[in-house]
Amino acid sequence: MKTIGLACLIALTLPAQALAWGEEGHSIVAEIAQRRLDAASLAKIQVLLAAETPSVDHPAASLSSIASWADDYRASHPDTAAWHFVNIPDDRSTYDPDADCRNGACVVDAIARFRTVLADCSKPAADRLEALKFLVHFVGDVHQPLHATDRWDAYTGKDDQGGNLIPVMFFGQSTNLHAVWDTGLIMRTVYDWGAYVVRLETTWFPGRDLTGLSGGSPADWAADSHRLAHEVAYDIPDDGAIGARYFTKAQPVVDRQLALAGIRLARLLQEALAPTPSCQ
Ligand SMILES: [Zn+2]
Repeated sequence: MKTIGLACLIALTLPAQALAWGEEGHSIVAEIAQRRLDAASLAKIQVLLAAETPSVDHPAASLSSIASWADDYRASHPDTAAWHFVNIPDDRSTYDPDADCRNGACVVDAIARFRTVLADCSKPAADRLEALKFLVHFVGDVHQPLHATDRWDAYTGKDDQGGNLIPVMFFGQSTNLHAVWDTGLIMRTVYDWGAYVVRLETTWFPGRDLTGLSGGSPADWAADSHRLAHEVAYDIPDDGAIGARYFTKAQPVVDRQLALAGIRLARLLQEALAPTPSCQ
């Protein structure tokens, strides 16, 4: 009973915005990134990760093993909740830092802040490890289209909180639009996140021209996610019943966003960890 009471209390106090890609999505992004790190960056990351406490699930720490830590952390630190998304209004096409990221409380600024900490070798290792854990998670989050938008919902008379307040039926199951993008589309494609990585490595990456795609800034990534939310994620039938037609259009977007998040994360980490005169 106490447990149920506590669970209800936590549910009531949690920020309404959902937790972003589920664990699967974050693990996929992190694993794709880790496979693309150069040896020097990987070695520095492994030194930081060595301080992580091994668990039964993760006897050796990896980027995928720490990729969802920020969602756990946010449950006990609600002041960090706004760092997981950026609410660019659906009816505006560009990111406006003054309006969308007040006091740095959005994913775009959070990525910039933690990149600076990770890059600074004069900072304590514990702070840099924490920055790494936030970065691995937030680069994933900013690529989830519904983490970069917010739409006024005439039906509820409220902001829809990135689709959290839009009830839908996903292949006959009652859920909300945000959850469809966090986990529904991924799990329907491949149930096992490791197999999803293999799928992207064998079907998405080969032969694809990635010129320019690994670059850009977190603000660019957010604007791109926002566009995809407008064009694809919100393109739901009036009755809210999402099935094969929607899946066929949305699934390639999920592949793209997970793959691009992975290569962009690798690049961001490598640039942050590149030797400088003061940090070798
Ligand atoms: Zn998150």
